[in-house]
Amino acid sequence: MVGLTLACALGQQQFKIAVVEAFQPEDINQNDDYQLRVSAISKSSQKILQNVNAWQGMLKRRACAYQHMHVWDATGDGNIHFDAADLGLDSLGHIIENKVIQFSLLEQCLKLPDVDWLCPQQVKDIRFSETQQQVTLNDGNVITAKLLVGADGANSKVREAAGVELNQSAYEQKAVVAVVKSTLHHKDTAWQRFLPSGPLAFLPLSDGSCSIVWSAENQRADELLEMEEKLFITELQSAFENTLGKIEKVSKRAAFPLVRRHANEYVKQGMALVGDAAHTIHPLAGQGVNLGLLDAAALAEVILRARAGGGNIASLTTLRKYERWRRADNSLMMYSMSGFKNLFSNDQAELSFIRNAGLNIIDSIGPVKYKLMRHALGLEGDLPEMAKSIGW
Ligand SMILES: Cc1cc2nc3c(=O)[nH]c(=O)nc-3n(C[C@H](O)[C@H](O)[C@H](O)COP(=O)(O)OP(=O)(O)OC[C@H]3O[C@@H](n4cnc5c(N)ncnc54)[C@H](O)[C@@H]3O)c2cc1C
Repeated sequence: MVGLTLACALGQQQFKIAVVEAFQPEDINQNDDYQLRVSAISKSSQKILQNVNAWQGMLKRRACAYQHMHVWDATGDGNIHFDAADLGLDSLGHIIENKVIQFSLLEQCLKLPDVDWLCPQQVKDIRFSETQQQVTLNDGNVITAKLLVGADGANSKVREAAGVELNQSAYEQKAVVAVVKSTLHHKDTAWQRFLPSGPLAFLPLSDGSCSIVWSAENQRADELLEMEEKLFITELQSAFENTLGKIEKVSKRAAFPLVRRHANEYVKQGMALVGDAAHTIHPLAGQGVNLGLLDAAALAEVILRARAGGGNIASLTTLRKYERWRRADNSLMMYSMSGFKNLFSNDQAELSFIRNAGLNIIDSIGPVKYKLMRHALGLEGDLPEMAKSIGW
């Protein structure tokens, strides 16, 4: 998702780009079952995807706008409710299947004459030098480029080849995901209940069903994954307090280990990391790909400015501007997510009281609540031009 966004952004500006991808994204049919992997796409990400002309493709396929977000704590009466209308917005964001995002981006990429799509191809070997980076593909072909961008996910080969160290720690949780159909409609709301064992999210899909992300300690997550369907439904209904009535249907389940990773460096001479290759965070606020899309937009802007000023797009001086811009922002989000996770994964009475009171206080103080909301939606902060307005 992040790599294709960057390729589209720079390909539109006549940069010659090769995208190497191991797996060919497939299109979906309207009648297909919903995919297990979805993303909550923020307002800033929406602008970025509009600027690379991929947004319409997503709306045309399957995307669900949500107008409300409701968050509550299982250990008390604390809750907070966000409403798009309070900010004069048509929605707070969209829930979109990752496959839909990937395919819609690819569709746009393939229209750009300066972008070469090399797929299915795997990166076998990488050689860095001062002026030229060399990538050998599994079919033996060799590509050379001034700049190599690692948008290759959490286990980035580019990061490893560049010798970039990671600061990482496991959250000791896994996220169990599934698609569920309940008797009540989701009311265009993204729901999240904080349980002492981890957060449970119900994310709205366009046919009225929900994609769930249930983060739980490793052992509990394994149990949730393996238990028989009937029992899983009972546990899920109880964990969600029957908020959307009875669960009538549940898809197959999958689980993803949750690890906080942050690359010590985002750039070297001729190399930059974006998206999960640079950072992975807890999905509790649905920010992972949103941060990655901001990386892509910021890197594109830094590169364009360098070219316009006659500079070297791959020099360390140029690339450091991207790193300074995005690293601090990503760190702040990562530590906030770790803090939230720790604050809510605790059923000590005093903490529970503070947490519940805190949620209620924030909910009742309009300006604080709106400030929080604007930040989470990507409407505030040091945003790249692509994330601010259409036609950057
Ligand atoms: C359960 C769960 C729920 C989440 N929910 C949200 C959410 O609601 N909102 C949100 O913003 N984020 C969410 N995230 C995070 C989000 O999924 C990631 O941040 C996002 O997928 C990162 O995108 P990316 O493009 O950087 O990397 P990836 O999606 O990992 O893409 C990397 C690509 O590189 C390719 N690749 C890797 N190595 C090679 C190689 N050697 N050769 C060729 N190709 C290669 C892979 O095939 C892949 O296509 C969630 C994560 C989890 C686990």
